[in-house]
Amino acid sequence: MQTLIGIYGASGFGSEIIPLIRVQYPNADLCFIDDADINEFLGYTVLSYEEFLGSSNLEKSVVLAIANSKIREILTSKIKSDKLNCISVKATSSVELDRVNIGEGSILCHFTHLTSNIVIGKQFHANIYSYVAHDCVIGDYVTFAPGVKCNGNVHIEDHAYIGTGAILKQGSPEKPLVIGRGAIIGMGAVVTKSVLPNTVVVGNPAKILERKT
Ligand code: UDP
Repeated sequence: MQTLIGIYGASGFGSEIIPLIRVQYPNADLCFIDDADINEFLGYTVLSYEEFLGSSNLEKSVVLAIANSKIREILTSKIKSDKLNCISVKATSSVELDRVNIGEGSILCHFTHLTSNIVIGKQFHANIYSYVAHDCVIGDYVTFAPGVKCNGNVHIEDHAYIGTGAILKQGSPEKPLVIGRGAIIGMGAVVTKSVLPNTVVVGNPAKILERKT
């Protein structure tokens, strides 16, 4: 019986990563998993999570294709408690240059680059054309939309979301630029200073739009 990989999230991001999974895991059976009442997506069967658990495949793994990081955290706990794996996805054109340590369940889309001396937690999503430069530290459940430019010596805490085309200014070893836990960086923002946790910033140079409670 072949391995069954369930892509959790029968929606936009799921449609973008299933071609990567087909290339990386050519021998696996693939399906989507979704909590909405959907039976079929892009020609693949969509199962509820309970149906996926009940399938007869001996080996089952999950890829979380959902941008919302809090949902990724909840689903990760559920999947772990059911003794399943969250596997990582790496596009053939993604680059990890040197001394890159990245946690499980990450998704590196096409043309993403992780350069040197980088530590990244679990469930990192790097959408197309994003990069992480040298000496960055990135926490768990961090999400990069397309085209994020994260320069050197930047620290990004858990659950931060970096919008499309945002630029994070380089920090230094003594004073890294810090994006706080749960912060949201608006699309196209140019972030020149550290951002506090749970804070939304937009613009160039990025300014505070909102502080979430
Ligand atoms: N979804 C789910 N369980 C959840 C949250 C989301 O099954 O707890 C599904 C949702 O029904 C949708 C898919 O995940 O089909 C992706 O959600 P969304 O469109 O919000 O995300 P995106 O594709 O932009 O990441």
